[in-house]
Amino acid sequence: MITTREQERKARQDKRFVSKQTQTSAKYLRRIAELSGAPDGMEPFYRALLRIYVDMQGVNVPQGVKTIGTYCVMAPQELIYAAGAMPVKLCSGNYTAFFVGDDIAPRDACPLVKAVAGFKHTELMPVYDDCSMMIVPVTCDCKKKIAGMLEGKCDVMTMHIPATRGDDEIDSFVSQLYELAARLEDVTGNRITYDSLANAFSMVGHAQYELSEFVRLKKQHPYLIRGTHAMTMMNAAAYMSAPAWANAMHRVNVSLRRRASSGQTVTGKKLPRILLTGSPIVFPNMKIPLLIEEMGGIVAGDETCMGERGMYDPPVITDNSFDGMMRALANRSLRPCPCPTFADNSQRLFRLKQLIRDNQIQGVIYLVLRGCLVYDFEYKRIEEELGRLGIPVIRLESDYNEEDVEQLRIRIEAFIELIKLRQAPEKKPTIRRDFNEQVLHRA
Ligand code: SF4
Ligand code: SF4
Repeated sequence: MITTREQERKARQDKRFVSKQTQTSAKYLRRIAELSGAPDGMEPFYRALLRIYVDMQGVNVPQGVKTIGTYCVMAPQELIYAAGAMPVKLCSGNYTAFFVGDDIAPRDACPLVKAVAGFKHTELMPVYDDCSMMIVPVTCDCKKKIAGMLEGKCDVMTMHIPATRGDDEIDSFVSQLYELAARLEDVTGNRITYDSLANAFSMVGHAQYELSEFVRLKKQHPYLIRGTHAMTMMNAAAYMSAPAWANAMHRVNVSLRRRASSGQTVTGKKLPRILLTGSPIVFPNMKIPLLIEEMGGIVAGDETCMGERGMYDPPVITDNSFDGMMRALANRSLRPCPCPTFADNSQRLFRLKQLIRDNQIQGVIYLVLRGCLVYDFEYKRIEEELGRLGIPVIRLESDYNEEDVEQLRIRIEAFIELIKLRQAPEKKPTIRRDFNEQVLHRA
């Protein structure tokens, strides 16, 4: 039996959690909004993040529509929409929840998992607590443990993600999608029909079209938008319905087209163009893109799951039947995915090179969340490949707190300086350059 004293202690802890959580999220939203050059039309994205993290409300869904949480982009949102529900991405970047989870999860677990554990423990975040079902694709050991931890909270479906993606693996993933469809029908009480699935494809397809327009504009007009703002829009997609996100994105694209035709850029100068890749960057953990842009670089591209990658690849339907659509979802989830969870990940290298070429990238920052082995494993290979292309790359390891901000700032500043020096080859190497290289090669 819980005593009054324990209840009071819990109430005090909850109050502290809410206050710290909302303050941190509001601070990051403010820093993003204060960064110069935000395009017109950002308000719906800010509002979506404000609603979830500062007002601490659930997602905006019509009465009676259930929300289904997902923990990886490999869980197809089309199936969730087809069941009349709304998908929300629950991978977390929350520092306050991380501190709570730090006492629950093992020391070497990644911060993303610790933050999820923190939210589960506090039961104070409606976006988590409102979910009628959670889908956890098991991509790494940490995700496996998330699935186990969430059991008992609501209906949880784990999805097996194969290490390779041949035809047999795709067949088996299609079977899992049929099982997922049946579970979604049970939870929502709605049948997934040919028409509802086709409608869901076109609904999500509209959002993907707007994203492709955005990517095209960015590619054709360097310095049209800051990456921090772009990543904020992508992060907000986790809590907005696909049509709401597509409409908001359409308005941003209109304003960017206007910018492009008048030759307007976010900065008068040619800032070093950085590609951000590695472990997911989930709001409010936006310290890395913010530091890059506050220190005089520009995030000209991102290859992260809460960024453009999350929606980049549309499913391709080659057979117009229901089964053909399920197969298209399975193919899209596995085949083009550059997640390091797959044994052979040459696709990621291909995608990185494509992004470097398309966005005229001059340097790559590779984020490894502490404990995220799958991303850390791939760093060496990527560093070697990019080295052959003459593209400088640094690995930044970080956690969900602000203790490492100064160290990150020094390394990012040095990296940006290095790119600037490379931009001006006529300048003789200086002491500064030696210093930069020393800093950059520190573990
Ligand atoms: S990084 Fe991999 S496991 Fe994480 S959301 Fe992306 S695809 Fe899924
Ligand atoms: S892929 Fe990395 S960041 Fe994501 S859950 Fe696994 S260990 Fe954590």
